[in-house]
Amino acid sequence: MNSLIKKAKETHSLTKDEIISLLEDNSINEELFKAADEVREENLGSYVHLRGLIEFTNICKRNCLYCGLRRDNKNLKRYRLSEEEILDFGKKAVEYGYKTLVLQGGEDDYFTADRMVSIIKKLKALNVAITLSIGERSFEDYKKFKEAGADRYLIRIETTDKKLYEDMDPGMSHEERKRCLRDLKTLGYEVGSGSLVGLPGQTLSSLADDILFFKKINVDMLGIGPFIPNEDTPLKDAKGGDFTLALKVMAIIRLLLVDINIPATTAMETLNKNGRIIALQSGANVVMPNVTEGEYRKLYALYPGKICTGDTPAHCRSCISSKIHGIGRIISDGYGFRGNKNSPKGN
Ligand code: SAH
Ligand code: SF4
Repeated sequence: MNSLIKKAKETHSLTKDEIISLLEDNSINEELFKAADEVREENLGSYVHLRGLIEFTNICKRNCLYCGLRRDNKNLKRYRLSEEEILDFGKKAVEYGYKTLVLQGGEDDYFTADRMVSIIKKLKALNVAITLSIGERSFEDYKKFKEAGADRYLIRIETTDKKLYEDMDPGMSHEERKRCLRDLKTLGYEVGSGSLVGLPGQTLSSLADDILFFKKINVDMLGIGPFIPNEDTPLKDAKGGDFTLALKVMAIIRLLLVDINIPATTAMETLNKNGRIIALQSGANVVMPNVTEGEYRKLYALYPGKICTGDTPAHCRSCISSKIHGIGRIISDGYGFRGNKNSPKGN
């Protein structure tokens, strides 16, 4: 076995130079993916946790250069689900068997802390774990959401390169992004972060920094997605991210953080038609099928070519279930908190 992969598998630590050399060397890819798969199996068993994703608003006050929801994109029809619609999609998701609901959206000021608290409380009454992914808010807001029943929060650092981050996300501050991550940890959330792989000007050295950052802050969940250029954004002519490189970043993190939850991301499947299954066999243990209905699925257009926008939530659920069973894995019926091993009824 490659000595660095062996070291990572045994000690769960690598130096920055070692990470860069793994990222550079494409002859070790299969070995790396296999090692990550073994570490996942050893620490988390065969279970795949499904999270039902509700994309509840595509209105955003931010202007991230890479994202189709950015406020300056005038080519997108905007929507915002009512509380009733969110609860309706949530109830249906529970009927399909989801034990976690993820509420994701742009940074939409309509959803004040009070409105979010009301939604969280009503969804929580369905006996599910709640994950939020609604960007930067104050400590006080995060505290109210937690007290209302939110369990987890996803907020990607996108890149740990401060200059690149602030170039990509005009008006946003890297310090503030890190403040959010710290506050969420302090409040007892399971915290998810992650990177976009393939941003213009991003280097392997910068990706190695990202990996070490996730290890240092001990993320509970990690979403790695290739950057996919969107026609309606300033980055429309950018080259975009590479599926294999994104997969490698994900696999190395699995070797360093053995028991965290790692989704096989939708962006991966957009670049490779079997992307989520390949990711599940390279360290990932979570899938987040979309449970939003109707035309909203198309309108939540972060990037082009998003999969399954014409499908129903019921179809998505059975499609992904059969793919997961097809590779000999088991769909968990537990909540799937960090480190949940072989105990579908508990945790
Ligand atoms: N507004 C919230 C959550 C929604 S965006 C936030 O920004 O945190 C969710 C994620 O979509 C972002 O973190 C970003 O990493 C990803 N994303 C946005 N545009 C993308 C693109 N063009 N290609 C791939 N992923 C993208
Ligand atoms: Fe808004 Fe999130 Fe898109 Fe940035 S990445 S424009 S914050 S939805």
